Amino acid sequence: MKTAYVLPDELGRLQPFLSPEYCRGWLLSRLHPSGPTCPECGELTAGKQAQRFNSLETVRCGHCGKSFTAFTGTVFHRSRLEPAQIVLMLMLLRLGRGEAEIAGELGTHERTIRRWRKRFMELGADMEPFPAEGDQTKDTPGKDEARAT
Ligand SMILES: [Zn+2]
Repeated sequence: MKTAYVLPDELGRLQPFLSPEYCRGWLLSRLHPSGPTCPECGELTAGKQAQRFNSLETVRCGHCGKSFTAFTGTVFHRSRLEPAQIVLMLMLLRLGRGEAEIAGELGTHERTIRRWRKRFMELGADMEPFPAEGDQTKDTPGKDEARAT
């Protein structure tokens, strides 16, 4: 099969393939589905402030005066990871990859990934790996099947 030649030999060095802008946009749309809002009073941010918000810069609420970024009040508050790193970490966690492997790909420590995994689990995130190809045809998607590796 000709397509086999384009498949990567290993998982390593995926991050440079990701578009930082796309990752940032995707992440912000997940964190703020109703758009840029003040975490203090819920006021919608617009215009130049919204642009700053979407660039992860600090903005000041015109309503209550609170200063914040798009990560303020979210699980990623004070995170030093770039959006592309966060997206990659989330993808790899969802694929059920090991903490050492994810840490290697992100250029961070294994304990950092362990901490994130724990935090997501505490928040009730679905940490089950995506079901393998073919499992979706089953009537009742069981967690046991998804777990099997
Ligand atoms: Zn406000």
